[in-house]
Formats: sequence, structure tokens, C-alpha cells
Amino acid sequence: EMPPIKGEVEFSHVVFSYEPGVRILNDVNFKANVGDSFAIVGPTGAGKSTIVNLISRFYNIDSGKILIDGIDINSVTIKSLRKQMGVMMQDSFIFSGTIMDNIRYGNREASDEDVIRAAKTVCAHDFIMSMENGYQTQVNERGSRLSAGQRQLISFARALLADPKILILDEATSSIDTETELLLQQGLQELLKGRTSFIIAHRLSTIKSSSCIMYIDQGNILEKGTHDEL
Ligand code: ATP
Ligand code: MG
Repeated sequence: EMPPIKGEVEFSHVVFSYEPGVRILNDVNFKANVGDSFAIVGPTGAGKSTIVNLISRFYNIDSGKILIDGIDINSVTIKSLRKQMGVMMQDSFIFSGTIMDNIRYGNREASDEDVIRAAKTVCAHDFIMSMENGYQTQVNERGSRLSAGQRQLISFARALLADPKILILDEATSSIDTETELLLQQGLQELLKGRTSFIIAHRLSTIKSSSCIMYIDQGNILEKGTHDEL
């Protein structure tokens, strides 16, 4: 079992391949302190998704160690590990039901008031209230009637309710209007407070406000630093 974590994440000499003989990550090293916000950038196929997938142990590494609060993630159950992490993929998962249900999925015990408070905190409330039935509006699996940015806002509210110490976000790439982009940026700042986060970043606003930027190419970290340093 993974004990309750604070959220420190360390990669130490991590080597990884999906198929034998084809190395994807070659000696990756970094340490994220509690509350750090890492933006991960780099060309397509560089290994960005691979790195974040390894944190939640979707694959076993060839050699090296991945430590959370100093504990080797291979020494705990996958279930107890994932329980403490929030993962938000690019195409946010929406199931068929109301918007209220979709947000409450983050924490089944949350009351309607909790859901609304979370939505307000991440700047999702106003767009939800502009829909014909507000929180009771029906949406479906394909997220029809919701833009990519709106789906991402719903996933922020959901993640806030789940309250994980480590957050992983693959930012939406599809075109997002400036107004939604502003909401996403504000909502994200609220969501990130007090958590360690790894964001595969496509938007300059996210990159600028991260405490560290990791530039990955061909499975290697080429540069690490703040926006001003790079
Ligand atoms: P993008 O910006 O396009 O999402 P990325 O930086 O996230 O790219 P990864 O998905 O981490 O890149 O892929 C890194 C490398 O690993 C690529 O060469 C890719 O082809 C390969 N790869 C990714 N997933 C698998 C898989 N399941 N099996 C085999 N190879 C894979
Ligand atoms: Mg990717």
C-alpha cells in the first residue's frame, strides 16, 4: 500500500523501452518537489506522454527508479498509487449523464453544493449556467455540445473534487478561443495550488506560469529551467 503522499516525484536514471531493443527513454533524471508545476514540452514522438504514463505505472521501466515521496513505485500496489494521482487526458472523459454527475465522478460523496463550489473555483460555473439546464444538462460520451476547452474545464472541477497530491494533465491542443483559454488558465492555477503537477503543455500561458519547464527530445531531457531562464 502507498501511504498518504505529499507529492514529491523523482526519476533516477530511468531507462525505458516499449519493445525490446528500442529505447524510448535513455537515463531520465529529474526531481519535482511538493507543489512544483512542471511543463513538459518537445516535438511529437519525443517521449512526453511516455514520461507521464510511467509516473502512474502504466508500464514497467527497464532500469532506474521512480520514487514518490522517496518510495519506489514498484514496491506498492498500482491501485494504491493511482488513488493518489489525478490524470487528465487530452480528450477529457465525459460519460452520458448530467454535467453534475460528470463532475461528481471525481468524488462520489460530494454534495451538489460541493460540485458547484468546485466548478466555481476552476471557472467552469459560468459556462455551465449558460447551458439550457445548467448542471442538469445532459451530455454524452462523445461530449457533444461541449467544446474541447469546456470538457477540460469539467475535468478540472472533477479533479478538484478528487483532491489528488499529484496531477497529470495533457493539455487540449484543439483550437480554443481566447475567452476559454483565459478561463482554463485561471482555473488551472486554482487547481494546481498545493499539488505537484506535470503538464504536457501546448499553451504559452501554461508554460509561462510553470515553476519548471522540461524540454524533451528523443527521450532525453535537453533543458530544464524556468520560462525566464530558457
Ligand atoms: P506527442 O506530442 O505526439 O503526443 P509524445 O512526446 O507524447 O508525442 P510519446 O507518445 O511518449 O511521444 O512517444 C515516444 C515514442 O514512443 C515514439 O517514438 C512513439 O512512437 C513510441 N511509442 C509510444 N507509445 C508506444 C507504444 N504503446 N508502443 C510502442 N511504441 C510506442
Ligand atoms: Mg503525447
